[in-house]
Amino acid sequence: MKHLRLMELDKKHFIHPTSSIQQQQENGPKVIMEQGDGIYLTDKNGNEFMDAMSSLWNVNIGHGRKELAEAAKQQMEKLAFSSAFSTFSHEPAIRLAEKIASIAPADLNAVFFTSGGSESNESAIKLVRHYWKIRGKPERRKIIGLKRAYHGVAAASTSATGIPEFWQMAGHMTTDFTHADTPYKNGTEKGIRSLRHTIETEGAEKIAAVMAEPIQGAGGVLIPPEDYLRKVRALCDEYGILIIADEVITGFGRTGKMFGLENWDFTPDLITFAKGVTSGYIPLGGVVVSDHIHNVLKEKSKGTLFHGFTYSGHPVAAAVALKNIELIEQENLVENARKMGEEMLAGFNKMKEGLEVVGDVRAVGLLGAVELMQDPDLNKHFSPDLQVGPNVIEALYERGVICRPVRYDGTDIICFAPPLIISRDQVNVLVEKLYDTVQKIQNHLD
Ligand code: PLP
Repeated sequence: MKHLRLMELDKKHFIHPTSSIQQQQENGPKVIMEQGDGIYLTDKNGNEFMDAMSSLWNVNIGHGRKELAEAAKQQMEKLAFSSAFSTFSHEPAIRLAEKIASIAPADLNAVFFTSGGSESNESAIKLVRHYWKIRGKPERRKIIGLKRAYHGVAAASTSATGIPEFWQMAGHMTTDFTHADTPYKNGTEKGIRSLRHTIETEGAEKIAAVMAEPIQGAGGVLIPPEDYLRKVRALCDEYGILIIADEVITGFGRTGKMFGLENWDFTPDLITFAKGVTSGYIPLGGVVVSDHIHNVLKEKSKGTLFHGFTYSGHPVAAAVALKNIELIEQENLVENARKMGEEMLAGFNKMKEGLEVVGDVRAVGLLGAVELMQDPDLNKHFSPDLQVGPNVIEALYERGVICRPVRYDGTDIICFAPPLIISRDQVNVLVEKLYDTVQKIQNHLD
């Protein structure tokens, strides 16, 4: 590995997000990326990788799009920054709010901007608590999340996250969060029973909102059963509870629809978004609220709402987001995600037919996963000591493909979320390399 000086500087000065500091100090960074183009990344040694995760599920339109750089440049030259606090406004934020309202489903029409997903979920949680407070029900504070959900790492979003490892670093920083069972593999009936039980145990009159990703991404691409989200809506309506849909991964075309929830005829009261809104070219996120919530805020929220980030509605980020959404629409990338997602899933299904260790395979649009088990028919997992998931990821990396492993409930899951611009040929290369890699590892395990 060249670039020893950079590696040393990394170890000395750079604390990486979601990383093992011990591992970093022992080995330094595994790769130092230099450039991106389309679905590919190139490192400082000239090695090319297919970015089959869109980096962090976010580079939806692919790397190296000059149009976004140009939009940023033009906006920076014209108005790099100006406040959106209080009575100040500017055109890029106004236009982006209007655009998002026009593509969001149903009557989700008003947008609060943030700098990313965690801040969006934090804001949504504060907004629903505020909503109930000004409606004279301040006791409605609790948030019910789902086990295996990932909602970010700020105070409230860490507590809303349903993966306990994220609670270990500093404990819970906020109160009034609880989690119901994920419907994944449990089925709708059990999932809804668990949610009803949680609502009744906690006390319906104390619950502000249920928060859920339409597809649980970081949990292992866990797709809900067909009727689950509709039944969550019905259950929440029964108890007057609001729903926050976390579309941070599933928004902006990822699932073959502009928003993930459109796959299931399901309407939440709030949507949180980030990642794909700018394809990761610049940080931006937000919360979209429905008219009935906005109307209550308009009527009853008196005085200053003491909640705003310096970069809420940042003009450069807003200009990049507008261009990004324009390109997604002009290039029919939502439709491409749907078609290429079907192609990817067909490839995964062939793997399931051909390879003994392949269990469940799934995808909605270009958000997919392949499960690996010692014996899927007997529901027998690999021993964690074998490190099957990480070994597959490592072998794929050696062959120039980047994807992500998750271990959940003993199952090794390989996750995929390639850029929405991926072509049929590129999907086939991805699936072939995966097939071949898993086959070699399977043979080695025999
Ligand atoms: N919500 C979901 C579903 C996510 O996947 C993520 C990040 O992966 C977040 C929220 C947090 O977003 P950020 O990392 O931008 O704070």
